[in-house]
Amino acid sequence: MSSPHPPRLVCPACRVPLDRAGAVDLDCPECGRRVPVFDDIPAFCDSDPFYETYTGHHAPYHLSPAGLKGAVLRWLPYWSWREWRFWRRYVPRGGWLLDLGCARGRQVFAERAGGSVGIDTARNALAECARHYRLAVQSGLAPLPFEDGVFDVVVTSHVIGHIPAAEKDAVLAEMARVLRRGGRSVNVIETDSLHPLVGFAKKWPDLYRRHFVEPDGHVGLELPTAVIARFERHGMRSVACWKMEAGPFHPRQWVKHFDNEYRERSAGVASAVERSRRILAQPALLAAAEVGLGMVHYTAGQWRYPLDHAQFIAAVFEKT
Ligand SMILES: [Zn+2]
Repeated sequence: MSSPHPPRLVCPACRVPLDRAGAVDLDCPECGRRVPVFDDIPAFCDSDPFYETYTGHHAPYHLSPAGLKGAVLRWLPYWSWREWRFWRRYVPRGGWLLDLGCARGRQVFAERAGGSVGIDTARNALAECARHYRLAVQSGLAPLPFEDGVFDVVVTSHVIGHIPAAEKDAVLAEMARVLRRGGRSVNVIETDSLHPLVGFAKKWPDLYRRHFVEPDGHVGLELPTAVIARFERHGMRSVACWKMEAGPFHPRQWVKHFDNEYRERSAGVASAVERSRRILAQPALLAAAEVGLGMVHYTAGQWRYPLDHAQFIAAVFEKT
């Protein structure tokens, strides 16, 4: 039976519970560190300017589809709703959930967890997250201001690929530490890829950097097999993995990555981008592409394409 209160905050250095100092701020009784609290959001770090801007543009509060739309999307394999279906399948019901790098948060987590706690460095996004989750905390991902084993599930959504390689082990160690034994780590992780089209894009390293890596701040991409091995080294056993985007590109991906200098490098790319723009402009064509690519994702995407062709993975681990 999990506690009705969110896991208590501790000093990240001393691991002792923080005291209320005066009206709002928190104090470490051991080292004397003061943690200011802004609008109910304890701040263990300052804001990072890149992510204040990035989450301002890229990270709304992700709503679950409601009503008829939700009912249809539960069985129709719409490509754009794969991640929602993944979360519904693997985020367990009840218990305390920690959303690492939460930005504004996700309704599917709040719906499924007994209570959700969000951690992020961007305070503008946390202000909204605090309205949907039980607790929002401004902090980096390591060290975490919680005691050992207090969470039933830790989720990350498009976070691990943003962590530089040198810092990854520290984050995964903290993730494993705050998870209870048997608890789940449920993740959508951007990865490096041996996909033939990504290989083609890498022939021009400067273009690849400009149009694949930098727009999203993906500074820490590793191949899927390397990501899974890293989690397992930290005592998290792989229990499920969906390969995402291991097969044909969605028209939106063609435009996002190739509607730029790449068109001048290859006539094939230029015409694929044109075709993609036409599909995106026609709602009926786009819907057909969504369902077609969704069907590929759930069939050949899982059993035919190699794991390391995936451009990201939806991966579930259990703490041993
Ligand atoms: Zn302390």
